Amino acid sequence: MLRSPLLLVPLTLSLMLPVSAPAALAESPAVAPALAPLPELVAGPVDTMSEAATATATAVRLQKPAPLNFPMAPTPRCYVLDNFGDPRSGGRIHQGADLLASLGQEVYAMADGTLTFQAKVGDGRSGTALSGNLWRLTAPNGIYYVYAHLSAFAPNLAVGSTVYKGQLIGYVGDTGNPGPGNYHLHFEVHPNGGAAVNPLPLLTVPRECTVY
Ligand SMILES: [Zn+2]
Repeated sequence: MLRSPLLLVPLTLSLMLPVSAPAALAESPAVAPALAPLPELVAGPVDTMSEAATATATAVRLQKPAPLNFPMAPTPRCYVLDNFGDPRSGGRIHQGADLLASLGQEVYAMADGTLTFQAKVGDGRSGTALSGNLWRLTAPNGIYYVYAHLSAFAPNLAVGSTVYKGQLIGYVGDTGNPGPGNYHLHFEVHPNGGAAVNPLPLLTVPRECTVY
């Protein structure tokens, strides 16, 4: 496309020149240099596009945010309850922290690891009445994380799936015992596969969240 206008230049000039014009003028050096760069001009856009594509890919990679050290998207709603160890009915104690959110807020893998257990509403397990939809995620170092009360699971995941830190694994809900509309993520951390510990010191709470 660049070649055509440039090739027209000498032709146009020739047509506009008086018939009596000296031949030297029609072939003046001012016209010849304009033709010389053509190969570069033709090649130029290809290289430029290639470089632009590479630059764009790099920019996209650099702009992709690092995974949160937090199990949930902090917007549109995020209230972190420091309620690990609180008493619960039947002599139970609260084994995690509750992150209050909106229905459907995204839930993320806290580490690279494997989904090692799934409870599904309606699966008939006794624990599911309390937990609702639940994932357990186990990291290679033995620590495992529990995500309960999910409204839904991310597609194409099952027990045995490997996930990476920050990967979407589900959505906040109120399944199990929270009560209708009490949307929150119940989140547990079990170092070395043992007893639960307070998750809060292990999290980097996003600034959009409020801690209670
Ligand atoms: Zn809870």
